[in-house]
Amino acid sequence: MEITSEDNRVLAFAFVSMLVCAFNAILALLVGRRTLKPILMFIFPVSAGAAWFMSKYGIVIDNGMFRNLAETDLKEVRDLLSLKFFWYMLLCGVVPAVVIWKLPIRYRAGLMGFTVSLLVALASGLLMVVVALSNYQGLASLLRNHHELRLLVVPSNVIGAGLSYLNEQSVSSRQPFMQIAVDAHKVAAWRDHALPSLTVLVIGESARADNFGVLGYSRDTTPNLAQEEGVLAFGNVHSCGTETAVSVPCMFSDLGRRGYSASRAQNEEGLLDVLQRAGFRVLWLDNQSGCKGTCARVGYRNLSQSTDPDNCDSECHDGILLRDLPDLLDHLTEHTVLVLHQMGSHGPDYYKRYPEGFEHFKPVCSSNALDECSRESIINGYDNTIRYTDHLLASLIDTLRSRQRQVDSAMIYLSDHGESLGEYNLYLHGAPYMLAPDQQKHVPLIVWFSEGYKQASHLDSACLRLRQGNAYTQDNLFHSMLGLLDISTSAYNPALDLFAGCRGPA
Ligand SMILES: [Zn+2]
Repeated sequence: MEITSEDNRVLAFAFVSMLVCAFNAILALLVGRRTLKPILMFIFPVSAGAAWFMSKYGIVIDNGMFRNLAETDLKEVRDLLSLKFFWYMLLCGVVPAVVIWKLPIRYRAGLMGFTVSLLVALASGLLMVVVALSNYQGLASLLRNHHELRLLVVPSNVIGAGLSYLNEQSVSSRQPFMQIAVDAHKVAAWRDHALPSLTVLVIGESARADNFGVLGYSRDTTPNLAQEEGVLAFGNVHSCGTETAVSVPCMFSDLGRRGYSASRAQNEEGLLDVLQRAGFRVLWLDNQSGCKGTCARVGYRNLSQSTDPDNCDSECHDGILLRDLPDLLDHLTEHTVLVLHQMGSHGPDYYKRYPEGFEHFKPVCSSNALDECSRESIINGYDNTIRYTDHLLASLIDTLRSRQRQVDSAMIYLSDHGESLGEYNLYLHGAPYMLAPDQQKHVPLIVWFSEGYKQASHLDSACLRLRQGNAYTQDNLFHSMLGLLDISTSAYNPALDLFAGCRGPA
């Protein structure tokens, strides 16, 4: 069947008519003297807010996006606000709500009112069926081929996502908390080792593999890492989710992407608990909105509100995460795992993520309304954030290397998820996993080990170098860390240990 633009117009009209009928039927059944105004006054601002972000960034609203909203912090919200958003909300959300509030409405009382509501609902339902049947073929193929459509319909998408999120929370709160890997303990490599060790796990934010020079990007976004000796960059790694609230808890859990659910991850221990149980000291430093529950039982400090003139202006740049590192290394006495959670390339205000001196690619979009900027200036801003991350990782490696006689050290950098920069008209991230473009899931993994660390864990870097193109996912992190730190537990799966094949006998 050939679809002409005339057909498309008819189809669009039919689809919208069905929605109007459906909403009319639902509202007719819900309204009464006490409910009509509150419901409508709630729907207008919610719909306006959702419609704004959907049209600005090409996002859809599902329960993942709702979770982002529910678990975000003030700073992230502030980054998304603008004067235009304010006017849009005022005109499309607040003004209609006030008009509805002031509007005199005559309600029919008692049985008469109920009968009229029922008739309106029935008539709307009937009209919907007539429209559906007369455009059956077109509508059926539209809905079959575009599952995302229901996530684009406001306000039912917001309400559906909200209910689904609340259900998830209530299921989660009823589950008992579970320990994992209760048998975890250190074995030879680190138990009998002379020097203390520091394993630094850097969790990147919205950094996509496509824009890393060391992973083949045409622009030189990683000049420092390219110079560092011993750096290994894995180019075929995919994330567990497309948003922080999924990826971060998922990569630290033993559930894997397929077994992951927010309620399960919230109710059981993760990697950091296991490392701590095995006798490692664990510390999480954050320059973002927290660790999404993954660091609940280990040392934690949020540095994003620091007042450090070297690293902070309107906000703290990720350099703040390295401020105390020399001191930590100089006084380290026990085997330690340090997690650094970056602000990284968090959008849409890419230009805020790096100090002035890092504005290498110009011009840069300096608005959070990305549709007002050229795509080139958005990518410039984003690439500058990657250059700043390059600087951060190289500084980290240099600091670790400068103390490698006193501490055996390693750096593992893994981004939480990728980012869309205008491909398919999408921006930011958080698309439903099945629909998300590769740019939101393809993430960089970059590692470095000091010589002493390699010897202690019997790592063969030549062997690892040959595996830089192998396909890995965030499911590998849990088991690779257990392998690297030589922790014995029944929870360890060598098949998912990225380093397993490149470790010699003890
Ligand atoms: Zn993220």
